[in-house]
Amino acid sequence: MKTGTLCLLIESDQGPILVDTGLGLRDYFQPTWFTQFFRVITIMPFDPNEAAFHQVQKLGYQPEDIKNIILTHMHFDHCGGLPDFPHAKVHMHRREYDAFTDGKILHWDEYAYIPRNIAHKPDWILYKDAKDKWYDFDAIRLPFEPEMYFIPLHGHSRGHCGLAIKTINGWFFHGGDAGAVYNNETPAWMIRWALGPHDPTLRAFMKAHPEFLVANSHMFPEFFEQHPIVE
Ligand SMILES: [Zn+2]
Repeated sequence: MKTGTLCLLIESDQGPILVDTGLGLRDYFQPTWFTQFFRVITIMPFDPNEAAFHQVQKLGYQPEDIKNIILTHMHFDHCGGLPDFPHAKVHMHRREYDAFTDGKILHWDEYAYIPRNIAHKPDWILYKDAKDKWYDFDAIRLPFEPEMYFIPLHGHSRGHCGLAIKTINGWFFHGGDAGAVYNNETPAWMIRWALGPHDPTLRAFMKAHPEFLVANSHMFPEFFEQHPIVE
Protein backbone atom coordinates (compact mmCIF):
# COMPACT_ATOMS: atom_id res chain seq x y z
CA MET A 1 0.00 0.00 0.00
CA LYS A 2 1.35 3.38 -0.97
CA THR A 3 0.31 6.95 -0.40
CA GLY A 4 2.05 10.11 -1.39
CA THR A 5 1.54 13.82 -1.74
CA LEU A 6 -0.39 14.78 -4.83
CA CYS A 7 1.66 16.97 -7.15
CA LEU A 8 0.16 18.17 -10.42
CA LEU A 9 1.76 19.43 -13.57
CA ILE A 10 -0.53 21.82 -15.44
CA GLU A 11 0.25 22.75 -19.02
CA SER A 12 -0.66 26.44 -19.02
CA ASP A 13 -0.39 29.39 -21.36
CA GLN A 14 2.78 30.25 -19.43
CA GLY A 15 4.43 26.87 -19.58
CA PRO A 16 4.24 23.97 -17.16
CA ILE A 17 3.07 24.83 -13.65
CA LEU A 18 3.83 22.54 -10.74
CA VAL A 19 1.18 22.36 -8.00
CA ASP A 20 2.89 21.39 -4.72
CA THR A 21 6.36 19.89 -4.96
CA GLY A 22 6.21 16.98 -2.53
CA LEU A 23 9.49 16.12 -0.84
CA GLY A 24 12.67 17.46 -2.40
CA LEU A 25 15.92 15.67 -3.14
CA ARG A 26 17.43 16.92 0.09
CA ASP A 27 14.58 15.41 2.10
CA TYR A 28 15.62 12.00 0.84
CA PHE A 29 19.35 12.40 1.38
CA GLN A 30 19.38 14.62 4.48
CA PRO A 31 15.95 14.26 6.09
CA THR A 32 15.11 16.56 8.98
CA TRP A 33 14.03 15.09 12.33
CA PHE A 34 10.46 16.03 11.47
CA THR A 35 10.54 14.12 8.19
CA GLN A 36 12.00 11.10 9.98
CA PHE A 37 9.27 11.33 12.60
CA PHE A 38 6.62 11.52 9.94
CA ARG A 39 7.95 8.50 8.12
CA VAL A 40 7.45 6.48 11.27
CA ILE A 41 3.82 7.47 11.81
CA THR A 42 2.70 7.42 8.16
CA ILE A 43 3.22 5.01 5.30
CA MET A 44 5.18 7.51 3.29
CA PRO A 45 7.19 5.85 0.51
CA PHE A 46 10.74 7.09 0.59
CA ASP A 47 12.11 6.71 -2.90
CA PRO A 48 14.05 9.66 -4.36
CA ASN A 49 12.74 8.70 -7.81
CA GLU A 50 9.35 9.92 -6.60
CA ALA A 51 10.68 13.49 -6.27
CA ALA A 52 9.06 16.06 -8.57
CA PHE A 53 12.58 16.85 -9.84
CA HIS A 54 12.58 13.43 -11.53
CA GLN A 55 8.86 13.23 -12.25
CA VAL A 56 8.80 16.39 -14.42
CA GLN A 57 11.62 14.89 -16.51
CA LYS A 58 9.56 11.74 -17.01
CA LEU A 59 6.86 14.02 -18.42
CA GLY A 60 9.32 15.50 -20.90
CA TYR A 61 10.32 18.74 -19.13
CA GLN A 62 13.54 19.94 -17.59
CA PRO A 63 13.42 21.25 -14.01
CA GLU A 64 14.41 24.72 -15.38
CA ASP A 65 11.24 24.70 -17.50
CA ILE A 66 9.17 25.04 -14.32
CA LYS A 67 8.79 28.82 -14.06
CA ASN A 68 5.73 28.76 -11.78
CA ILE A 69 4.83 26.72 -8.72
CA ILE A 70 1.50 26.92 -6.91
CA LEU A 71 1.50 25.80 -3.27
CA THR A 72 -1.56 24.74 -1.30
CA HIS A 73 0.48 25.33 1.87
CA MET A 74 3.99 25.07 3.22
CA HIS A 75 4.13 21.88 5.24
CA PHE A 76 7.38 20.08 4.41
CA ASP A 77 5.68 17.31 2.46
CA HIS A 78 4.15 19.88 0.08
CA CYS A 79 7.03 22.30 -0.45
CA GLY A 80 10.22 20.33 0.28
CA GLY A 81 10.98 20.31 -3.44
CA LEU A 82 11.11 24.13 -3.78
CA PRO A 83 14.95 24.18 -3.71
CA ASP A 84 14.96 21.78 -6.68
CA PHE A 85 13.26 24.51 -8.76
CA PRO A 86 15.13 27.63 -7.66
CA HIS A 87 14.08 29.75 -10.67
CA ALA A 88 10.35 29.26 -10.25
CA LYS A 89 7.99 31.97 -9.04
CA VAL A 90 5.99 30.63 -6.11
CA HIS A 91 2.28 31.44 -5.92
CA MET A 92 0.69 31.15 -2.50
CA HIS A 93 -1.71 32.72 -0.03
CA ARG A 94 -0.17 35.57 1.97
CA ARG A 95 -1.45 34.17 5.28
CA GLU A 96 0.55 31.02 4.68
CA TYR A 97 3.69 33.00 3.92
CA ASP A 98 3.20 34.95 7.15
CA ALA A 99 2.62 31.76 9.13
CA PHE A 100 5.86 30.31 7.81
CA THR A 101 7.99 33.40 8.27
CA ASP A 102 6.69 35.20 11.38
CA GLY A 103 8.75 33.01 13.71
CA LYS A 104 5.76 32.15 15.91
CA ILE A 105 4.35 28.69 16.50
CA LEU A 106 0.60 29.28 16.91
CA HIS A 107 -0.40 25.65 16.38
CA TRP A 108 1.37 22.27 16.39
CA ASP A 109 1.14 21.99 12.60
CA GLU A 110 3.67 24.82 12.31
CA TYR A 111 6.48 22.45 13.29
CA ALA A 112 6.02 21.14 9.75
CA TYR A 113 7.45 24.42 8.39
CA ILE A 114 11.10 23.73 7.60
CA PRO A 115 13.10 26.97 7.06
CA ARG A 116 15.65 25.41 4.69
CA ASN A 117 12.87 24.91 2.13
CA ILE A 118 12.93 28.63 1.34
CA ALA A 119 16.59 29.38 2.10
CA HIS A 120 17.15 30.01 -1.64
CA LYS A 121 14.73 32.98 -1.35
CA PRO A 122 12.18 32.17 -4.02
CA ASP A 123 10.38 34.89 -5.92
CA TRP A 124 6.96 34.96 -4.20
CA ILE A 125 3.64 35.96 -5.73
CA LEU A 126 1.31 36.25 -2.75
CA TYR A 127 -2.47 36.50 -2.82
CA LYS A 128 -4.87 37.70 -0.18
CA ASP A 129 -8.29 39.00 -1.14
CA ALA A 130 -10.75 36.35 -2.27
CA LYS A 131 -12.82 38.70 -4.44
CA ASP A 132 -14.00 36.08 -6.91
CA LYS A 133 -16.45 33.22 -6.59
CA TRP A 134 -16.07 29.65 -7.73
CA TYR A 135 -19.47 28.07 -7.16
CA ASP A 136 -20.25 28.81 -3.50
CA PHE A 137 -16.64 29.29 -2.51
CA ASP A 138 -14.81 32.58 -2.12
CA ALA A 139 -12.02 32.33 -4.64
CA ILE A 140 -8.94 33.99 -6.06
CA ARG A 141 -8.54 33.81 -9.83
CA LEU A 142 -4.93 32.95 -10.66
CA PRO A 143 -3.28 34.63 -13.68
CA PHE A 144 -3.07 31.58 -15.92
CA GLU A 145 -5.00 29.76 -18.59
CA PRO A 146 -6.65 27.28 -18.18
CA GLU A 147 -8.93 29.03 -15.70
CA MET A 148 -7.96 28.21 -12.13
CA TYR A 149 -8.82 29.50 -8.66
CA PHE A 150 -7.26 29.40 -5.25
CA ILE A 151 -10.01 28.42 -2.81
CA PRO A 152 -9.05 29.60 0.70
CA LEU A 153 -9.62 26.63 3.02
CA HIS A 154 -7.71 27.86 6.04
CA GLY A 155 -7.46 25.73 9.14
CA HIS A 156 -5.26 22.76 8.30
CA SER A 157 -2.60 25.45 8.24
CA ARG A 158 -3.09 29.19 8.67
CA GLY A 159 -3.20 30.01 4.96
CA HIS A 160 -4.01 26.66 3.35
CA CYS A 161 -5.84 26.86 -0.02
CA GLY A 162 -7.42 24.36 -2.36
CA LEU A 163 -7.20 24.78 -6.12
CA ALA A 164 -9.96 24.47 -8.72
CA ILE A 165 -8.72 23.88 -12.26
CA LYS A 166 -10.74 23.82 -15.45
CA THR A 167 -9.55 20.81 -17.41
CA ILE A 168 -10.69 19.52 -20.78
CA ASN A 169 -12.74 16.97 -18.84
CA GLY A 170 -14.42 19.52 -16.57
CA TRP A 171 -13.46 20.93 -13.19
CA PHE A 172 -10.89 19.27 -11.01
CA PHE A 173 -11.05 20.42 -7.39
CA HIS A 174 -7.87 19.70 -5.49
CA GLY A 175 -8.81 20.16 -1.83
CA GLY A 176 -5.19 19.87 -0.65
CA ASP A 177 -4.95 18.81 2.99
CA ALA A 178 -8.32 20.34 3.91
CA GLY A 179 -10.17 17.04 3.72
CA ALA A 180 -10.00 13.29 3.27
CA VAL A 181 -13.12 12.96 1.18
CA TYR A 182 -12.72 9.31 0.23
CA ASN A 183 -11.79 8.17 3.72
CA ASN A 184 -14.82 6.67 5.45
CA GLU A 185 -12.91 4.86 8.18
CA THR A 186 -11.36 7.70 10.15
CA PRO A 187 -13.74 9.36 12.63
CA ALA A 188 -14.84 12.90 11.75
CA TRP A 189 -13.33 14.38 14.93
CA MET A 190 -9.92 13.01 13.99
CA ILE A 191 -10.14 14.37 10.45
CA ARG A 192 -11.09 17.74 11.90
CA TRP A 193 -8.19 17.64 14.32
CA ALA A 194 -5.63 16.80 11.63
CA LEU A 195 -7.07 18.58 8.60
CA GLY A 196 -9.21 21.45 9.88
CA PRO A 197 -12.91 22.26 9.54
CA HIS A 198 -13.56 21.97 5.79
CA ASP A 199 -13.90 18.23 5.20
CA PRO A 200 -17.73 18.22 5.57
CA THR A 201 -18.00 21.16 3.13
CA LEU A 202 -15.86 19.32 0.58
CA ARG A 203 -17.96 16.17 0.94
CA ALA A 204 -21.17 18.15 0.49
CA PHE A 205 -19.76 19.87 -2.58
CA MET A 206 -18.72 16.51 -4.04
CA LYS A 207 -22.22 15.15 -3.54
CA ALA A 208 -23.80 18.20 -5.15
CA HIS A 209 -21.41 18.03 -8.13
CA PRO A 210 -20.81 14.41 -9.07
CA GLU A 211 -19.72 15.69 -12.49
CA PHE A 212 -16.53 17.16 -10.99
CA LEU A 213 -13.47 15.26 -9.85
CA VAL A 214 -12.58 16.09 -6.24
CA ALA A 215 -9.41 14.87 -4.54
CA ASN A 216 -7.11 15.60 -1.64
CA SER A 217 -3.34 15.61 -1.30
CA HIS A 218 -2.81 12.25 0.32
CA MET A 219 -4.52 9.67 -1.81
CA PHE A 220 -3.68 6.22 -3.05
CA PRO A 221 -2.04 6.44 -6.48
CA GLU A 222 -4.54 3.89 -7.86
CA PHE A 223 -7.21 6.56 -7.48
CA PHE A 224 -5.70 8.50 -10.36
CA GLU A 225 -5.42 5.36 -12.45
CA GLN A 226 -9.17 4.90 -12.02
CA HIS A 227 -9.99 8.61 -12.33
CA PRO A 228 -7.51 10.24 -14.69
CA ILE A 229 -7.63 14.04 -14.43
CA VAL A 230 -6.88 14.34 -18.13
CA GLU A 231 -6.54 11.36 -20.44
ZN1 LIG B 1 -0.26 19.64 5.45
